[in-house]
Amino acid sequence: MTNLAQTPLAERLRSLVDTVQHNERTLRRFQNVELRLIGAQDFMSFLDTLFSRLPQEFSLSGVTLWLDDRAPILLELLEPAALHALGEPRLRTSREGGLAAQGLCEDGEPWLGEPRELDDTARRAFFGDAGTPASAILLPLAAGNTVSGYLCLGSDDPARFAPGMATDILERFASIVTASLDNVAHRERLKQLGMTDSLTGLANRRYFDERLREEIMRAVRYGVPVACLFIDIDSFKRINDTYGHQTGDRALAAVAACVRQQVRLGDTVARYGGEEFAALLQGDRTDALTVAERVRQAVERLDLQDDHGKRIALTVSIGVAARTVSGPPAEAAKLGMVMMEEADRAMYQAKHNGRNRIEALAKAEGNHAVL
Ligand code: GH3
Ligand code: MG
Ligand code: MG
Repeated sequence: MTNLAQTPLAERLRSLVDTVQHNERTLRRFQNVELRLIGAQDFMSFLDTLFSRLPQEFSLSGVTLWLDDRAPILLELLEPAALHALGEPRLRTSREGGLAAQGLCEDGEPWLGEPRELDDTARRAFFGDAGTPASAILLPLAAGNTVSGYLCLGSDDPARFAPGMATDILERFASIVTASLDNVAHRERLKQLGMTDSLTGLANRRYFDERLREEIMRAVRYGVPVACLFIDIDSFKRINDTYGHQTGDRALAAVAACVRQQVRLGDTVARYGGEEFAALLQGDRTDALTVAERVRQAVERLDLQDDHGKRIALTVSIGVAARTVSGPPAEAAKLGMVMMEEADRAMYQAKHNGRNRIEALAKAEGNHAVL
């Protein structure tokens, strides 16, 4: 590293511009990997992104992941039979591995250096008997104070990861890995519980109804508004009739992914029926109308093609309902249903008024419903 303070201004600026450009390139490449991690539908593809994509994209000699099999959400993902079925040597769970990593990452900070210099136990916990990388970084995967694992990136270049290097970009990446891991673990859990729809990967109606009840209770407790969208694909029967059921299925999956993209990570989107979706949002009527309009436009812009490469036009009609509620939480289930019924009716109004539009009932039975 040059000492910027002692170099002439022009040189200093050039160096800054270089750094900015370098970081931008790096961030963009990270973004590719991150989008795959965030969108991973199952644990296998999550691991595949980490173990195959990441080293390719960043010329790493290898990636290893240590996970804590006692972390509640990881319990089932990492039970011995499941691990055996995965047969993935780069995924580790040994107690020694965790302790070694904990010792290296003091105060939850990343560790960088040459693994050769580590003691045998620590080294083998991460790299096994296979070749030890010339240099490596060990990143804690932490949410709050809880560390659920460690991600280790190795390089053939001894100077690639050295103590004292800036690690902010990699730490940011680690936080995305942590969130994606949590997400994929929840996904797997939902699958086990029969709460997902296999065609679209979205939650199903059973899960949605449960979340609806929880969200209303939360809304009551904290006095925050809650909203839902009822989304129905327009003239979907015609898509099936024109292009066949298989293309119809593809269209459903495309619309599902599109809706998912338009809401926030914490919002729930479900396949509510055949060609119907429901979204549960934290926000008021205005927020919900904004999201609904975004969904409508995004579906309209979808570039879905038939088997001959011809674009298939798709649109949706959306009903919106929102509430700020107060009253006993016991009534939550009932109020949730009433809100969904209202969104459903608003959706039919949108159909009636010409489709490819959003509606909320004019006489929105009060943004304020007192239970
Ligand atoms: P509208 O604009 O009034 O909503 O018309 P629509 O044709 O979308 O509504 P309708 O309820 O008449 O038809 C829904 C169609 O969705 C009929 C059904 O065959 C189709 N569908 C439901 N589930 C699936 C599925 O899993 N895959 C496919 N390909 N089609 C499905
Ligand atoms: Mg329908
Ligand atoms: Mg329809």
